[in-house]
Amino acid sequence: MIRPIRGNHNTALATRYYHVWHMRDPNEPFENLRPLDVLAIAAHPDDVEQTCGGTLIKMAERGYRTGVLDLTAGDMGSRGTPDLRITESRRAAEHMLLSWRQNLRMPDARLENNIGARMTLAGVIRRIRPKTVILPYWTGRHPDHYRTCELGYEACFLAGLKRLEEDTPPHRPFKILYSSLYANVTPSFVIDVSRQFDRRMAALLSYSSQYGDSAQASDLFPSRAEVEERLASIAKFYGNLIGVKYGEPYVVKEMMEVDDIIAMPVRSI
Ligand SMILES: [Zn+2]
Repeated sequence: MIRPIRGNHNTALATRYYHVWHMRDPNEPFENLRPLDVLAIAAHPDDVEQTCGGTLIKMAERGYRTGVLDLTAGDMGSRGTPDLRITESRRAAEHMLLSWRQNLRMPDARLENNIGARMTLAGVIRRIRPKTVILPYWTGRHPDHYRTCELGYEACFLAGLKRLEEDTPPHRPFKILYSSLYANVTPSFVIDVSRQFDRRMAALLSYSSQYGDSAQASDLFPSRAEVEERLASIAKFYGNLIGVKYGEPYVVKEMMEVDDIIAMPVRSI
């Protein structure tokens, strides 16, 4: 049983976002939701804005239904509160043209891959039926990130089992992409997000509790200008690999198929 997430949101703000969520109330259960084409699952609000937000924007611009499921609300963060992070994440969702975003409010910095977490996540996947899922890369500095990867993969598998839950039909996503922006690995492919980059940056800066130039924990947090510069240089590095301005890298575990060698992008010589 998936329960809707109860957060403090003010009504005026919620009203502004009706057209984004395609839901009467952002906290309503999502049983009757139209299936998503792409779902990014992330450990913390503001993760997708750094790693795969440009891709989500690009897909939404092409008419696909995109969504984000954040597992925690950043309750261990030095700045802001979980409710504030969720409010900011809704503002970011608007910049990223998302059709859907929810937060499971699992415990930040101590996320566990246990049967309860897997079943909850599998239940969400069965209800929103994404074709493609984006997960964080499977290694990293922060345990929540690689645990989200493992949890996400196992939940995608469980979601496809007919007998898992009686009230929802099975669903297994077709494709799983691992967002490898912060992993020091060669990507399987890079998406050109040059035209989406400014929008992605605006989405990230919606988290003013994290990226405002606040005095709170300022020794731990880089300044806003530093964050912008850092993310631009990472995006430029990956863009350069495919000959464009800004890029987002992904790894897939299975082989990529090429159908037409004449239409292949990226110049060789
Ligand atoms: Zn994170």
